[in-house]
Amino acid sequence: MKIAVVAAETLPFSKSGGLADYVYSLSNALSASGHEVDVMTPDYGASTASGGESYTVNGMTFGVTSQKTGGWSALKLSNSDLFGRKDMYGYDDDDRRFAYFAAAAAEIASARSYDIVHCNDWQSGFIPLLLKQKGDASHSVYTIHNLQFQGNSPPSIMGEIGINQSYFDIEGIEFYGKASAMKAGIVYSDRIVTVSPTYSREIQTGRYGFGMDGIIRKHSGRLTGILNGIDYKMWDPSADALLPSNYGMTAMDGKASCKSALQRTFSLPQVKRPLIVSIGRLWEQKGIDLLIDALDSIEGGFQFIILGTGDKELMNKIQERASTDINVRAVLRYDEQLAHRMYAGSDIFAMPSRFEPCGLSQMICMRYGSVPVVRKTGGLADTVMDFDPDTGEGNGFVFEDESAEQLAYALTRAVKTFQSVETWSGLVRNCMSSDHSWEASAKEYEMLYAEISRPKVS
Ligand code: ADP
Repeated sequence: MKIAVVAAETLPFSKSGGLADYVYSLSNALSASGHEVDVMTPDYGASTASGGESYTVNGMTFGVTSQKTGGWSALKLSNSDLFGRKDMYGYDDDDRRFAYFAAAAAEIASARSYDIVHCNDWQSGFIPLLLKQKGDASHSVYTIHNLQFQGNSPPSIMGEIGINQSYFDIEGIEFYGKASAMKAGIVYSDRIVTVSPTYSREIQTGRYGFGMDGIIRKHSGRLTGILNGIDYKMWDPSADALLPSNYGMTAMDGKASCKSALQRTFSLPQVKRPLIVSIGRLWEQKGIDLLIDALDSIEGGFQFIILGTGDKELMNKIQERASTDINVRAVLRYDEQLAHRMYAGSDIFAMPSRFEPCGLSQMICMRYGSVPVVRKTGGLADTVMDFDPDTGEGNGFVFEDESAEQLAYALTRAVKTFQSVETWSGLVRNCMSSDHSWEASAKEYEMLYAEISRPKVS
């Protein structure tokens, strides 16, 4: 099949979170199965490419450069005004930037005649509608990675990017007086996917629906949950070049070296205490405030390192805590190498998300033998099973309520379990042998593509 994947970020070119890993891994897996895959993505920081292929939307020109990446091609869309900036996101005109990106991608998609156009999140949400409006023969899939961000613009955006005003309707893309890219993806795609089965159920409720639960319930006949995997080549402690030592399930010495190295880097004493880490975007979604509040109530000694960027207030709170607690360290930036070293050097990985569509970090930490402590939501609920010391079953510690007390209790259970060397080794083995590779997920996507491409029998 000829497949276009459209997304605001993809490795190896850009990454702010799990979406970039997802696009990269899915495209690798699909091309390895023999499909022809193009990934359309913005060329951040670049000026508009001239001389080659170009597309114009309402006077805004996008240059297109194609770059072979493994088995697939990246089609990088450049426009100096919209994407030639320092950061990927965080501008007042983000909704407009990506509405134009979506319109340019839709132009390219119809010019190139794909079988499947697979859009991801609100940045490409208008594409299924634009393709329908053109009468394009392709079939569209829309994956929701995070329902919180919806790309709701003033309705004037529709005229700018060529969407007929008749779609500005409660049954169409109107959402509280705005034109919603997220709603466009939900209403007009052939199939809607969320990145875990539990999240596909959660977003149909008021608690997790961000105002769209009714719309999603209405279109739930086209909705499925497909759990993401992680790239087992990129995330492999036995071959990871970013680590000071390598290790695997049958030769764990390297993990102890990684822990010592991490402790040295952060001037933490080399004591036999569990090293807890947290890596991720520092937003309310991730429950980082709960984690900082929980630290005082964890029983038993531990060390703690956090890596992330995000909300200024949260970053201040973390910085303040790190400057007054000799067991706490904070690195408030994006740092790929340090992330690898923290997954490898830690014993426990804290991920107390308020909601988590899938989450990759809990799967990565398990592969590196760091035991996840998670809230029971979304993809965390689908991948982490609470450890039972009596049976030795389970691969982490799970709590239910959004509360610092419950989180502290779960972390205390982890810290206490760490004290029994034999029990802990069994738990680490359970983590490292959990299978979260991409193959199974990619197969499900292929089945879905085949299903929607099949001619309808009347
Ligand atoms: P989300 O997509 O919501 O950000 P995921 O758990 O799905 O969360 O994916 C997060 C990915 O981004 C992981 O690969 C994680 O290691 C990485 N990551 C997040 N923040 C940082 C950071 N500050 N430095 C390095 N890697 C980070």
